[in-house]
Amino acid sequence: MTTPHDTAFPGPVKPEHRLDIRAVRRQFPALRQLVHGHPLAYLDNAATTHKPMPVLDTLVRHYERDNANVHRGLHTLGVRATEAYEHARTRVAQFLGARDAGEIIFTRGTTEAINLVAQSYGRTHLQPGDEIIVTAMEHHANLLPWRRLCTEVGATLRVVPIDDDGGLRVDEYARFLGGTPRLVAIAHAANALGTVNPVAKMTRLAHAVGAVVLVDGALAAAHTPVDVAALDCDFYTCSAHKLYGPTGIGALYGKAALLAAMPPWQMGGDMVLSVDDTAVRYAEPPQRFEAGTPPIADAIAFASALDWLADLGHDRIVAHERALLAHATEALGAVEGVRLVGTTREKVAVVSFNVEGLHAHDVATVLDDAGVAVRGGDQCAQPLMHALGLPGTVRASFAAYNTVDEIDRLVDAVRHARTLLG
Ligand code: PMP
Repeated sequence: MTTPHDTAFPGPVKPEHRLDIRAVRRQFPALRQLVHGHPLAYLDNAATTHKPMPVLDTLVRHYERDNANVHRGLHTLGVRATEAYEHARTRVAQFLGARDAGEIIFTRGTTEAINLVAQSYGRTHLQPGDEIIVTAMEHHANLLPWRRLCTEVGATLRVVPIDDDGGLRVDEYARFLGGTPRLVAIAHAANALGTVNPVAKMTRLAHAVGAVVLVDGALAAAHTPVDVAALDCDFYTCSAHKLYGPTGIGALYGKAALLAAMPPWQMGGDMVLSVDDTAVRYAEPPQRFEAGTPPIADAIAFASALDWLADLGHDRIVAHERALLAHATEALGAVEGVRLVGTTREKVAVVSFNVEGLHAHDVATVLDDAGVAVRGGDQCAQPLMHALGLPGTVRASFAAYNTVDEIDRLVDAVRHARTLLG
């Protein structure tokens, strides 16, 4: 079924950058449903994207044909599963621009990747009195592991403030570097605001004072090209489920020399070379950091999602999302009583806003009644909301399959919420 919401997009998108949205949407079964009697307008892609048929097919095919544990069985299915799993690692490395597949560790997602770095690298390399820098726009996933690490090792966390548009105070960041921090952890793109941080420059500045840099790419990876070699960051994280892939799988990129000097985080099967009564020899990275049976089918389907993205053209998706962002910013900004939160020039396709006098949860509920799915609340960034003096925001976030008509329905539903609740 095609929906009545398949349209061309507005603005200065060059024809060669256009996506065939009808064809894209046909690949997503979840989009073909009614919610409260309305065609679903799924605008909660910063939380998670839907999955195209090739990804779903890969999951089914793996379980139907190749299901076996990896790195263990010498039988045919075990070999097939291992090959596909290791191929997926190579595919992720290629997507992120890593030089070597050995620099890619499969994790449950960004959250687990950051905890791994905090617990393995952080606990062995940081000492009392050391400083860690984060920004005021971090998701809890890139804040709480560092807060805990600070408590555990006696380090201090410093938080770089943002300006009124939701942009980072890079001048303050540069000033904080004067304290010679040991580690900097920054969002490539902030989930609550959409702000894209100048991570290449920030990495360069951090390296100049000897700090190690982790970039949280959970949101950015789907919406902007990533090249860890060009960024020169030490660690980079992403989550497949925001990249049209499955939940429960993501990746940590780490520079080979750093990974080699890190102890395992979790202990168990498949991460050792030898064990006797007194001694353990750990496997080299990445195996050292993948204790236990990994989410094999999900890793393989993650690679399918990256293939799907590449076939469609990441640059074309980015151009399409930029057009949607421009339209949404203008149309929502024109609604009386709507205040946009996060309006920097460098943004991914996220529009956070508040409606005067209305709670974000109530607005999100009225939108859901109209079949429009958005996020309403603190966006897993409570300290940011405190800094902004807001209990939360409503957040609409776009993906390759979204249309201008869906955004117009969002805007109509926001107007309706004002009338209904205002
Ligand atoms: N950081 C950012 C910027 C995010 O958007 C998210 C997901 N909302 C996370 C970290 C956490 O990712 P995950 O839940 O996939 O581990």
